[in-house]
Amino acid sequence: MTLNRQRVIDDLKALRTMTGNAHGAQRLAWSEPWLAGRAWLRERAAEVPGVTCEQDEAGNLWFSLPGRSRKSVLIGGHMDSVPNGGWLDGCLNVLAGLEVLRRLAAQGRPALTVKLVDWADEEGARFGPSCFGSGSLSGAMKPAQRAELRDSGGERLRDVLARCGVDVDRAPRARKRLRDALAYLELHIEQGPVLEGLGLPMGVVTGTFGVERHSVTFTGQAAHSGSTPMKVRRDALIGASRFQLAVRDIAIQHGGVGTVGRVDAQPGIVTAVAGEATCLLDQRHLSARKLTAMNRAARTVSARIAREEGLGVVWRTLWQTPPMPFDPELIRLGDAAVKSVCATSMRLPSGPLHDATEMARAGLPTVMLFVQSLRGISHAPIEDTDEAHLRLSVAALDELVTRVMAKLG
Ligand SMILES: [Zn+2]
Repeated sequence: MTLNRQRVIDDLKALRTMTGNAHGAQRLAWSEPWLAGRAWLRERAAEVPGVTCEQDEAGNLWFSLPGRSRKSVLIGGHMDSVPNGGWLDGCLNVLAGLEVLRRLAAQGRPALTVKLVDWADEEGARFGPSCFGSGSLSGAMKPAQRAELRDSGGERLRDVLARCGVDVDRAPRARKRLRDALAYLELHIEQGPVLEGLGLPMGVVTGTFGVERHSVTFTGQAAHSGSTPMKVRRDALIGASRFQLAVRDIAIQHGGVGTVGRVDAQPGIVTAVAGEATCLLDQRHLSARKLTAMNRAARTVSARIAREEGLGVVWRTLWQTPPMPFDPELIRLGDAAVKSVCATSMRLPSGPLHDATEMARAGLPTVMLFVQSLRGISHAPIEDTDEAHLRLSVAALDELVTRVMAKLG
């Protein structure tokens, strides 16, 4: 039996019909549709001779095809989606991986064990922090510290996970699953516009961006909009606005990305100069050095703006994570795999974080393949990829697995 690329598309459509509605995919982690999608995945995998399935302590599903060696190559993805999500994010990886297992199983015992992992709660759409399952293995996620988080319906993470067979206090024990792993491979839709802009079906990911996330609060003096002359104002929102423009320039200068995604102004009425304005800042770069430089530049400019506008400024760190470069040798094999099915490949970094980030953080040689996203849109019902490109991506993942096994087996 050879690789059946169309079957992956048929599986994706079956999953969409089963767990989505007119507003998109509804496989929110730990919900009924998610569990239904996973149960269906288990049934599909059970049809593959030799493949067994286990759930680990962090709620991840492991589909194993034993090889002549216990040493394993991992293929990963996630069945969970954001609410009203697309039909490809996360589940393309899983269902393409399942097709690779089918192809391998039909050809007898592989040299290395191959494991497909369906990571639990990649999106973090219900409780906040993303990559619960993979982060529990890398150590970035401290599940016990998250146990009391509540979802929008008021349910505790601890209780919701217990119903899915996960004891949060035991989740880090899943880490032992990485003991025999030699490499981690993940196919994903790009979720951005780069490949489409270049007219390329696929690319190889060099790593995921580091992130600096902070709240930056400017403080001035609230005053009447009618009676306060322009030259004596200490307008915190003017400070925030100038800061937001500077964040854009800094990102462009350093070749990274920078976003002020939210500004809250107080008192927040049209008849008052804002006395306080808080910006939520997100800066990302693949280079740790340049990310640090971007953050330093933003701090310097915020202090200058504060001085010029007669304001105070206070920074509070919300979250930081370093860039995670992928494995150079696996990137090379990824390039070769993509070229063998698409003729042309390119290397690009990933702005979003993925489960692959956590595997790289855990010290496992890691690489990702991206397939073009139409219009660069994801996390929305219009998320889509040309079906010809989906078929190429299944072939490229299979090719990558073959090349990695040949190298490591
Ligand atoms: Zn995803």
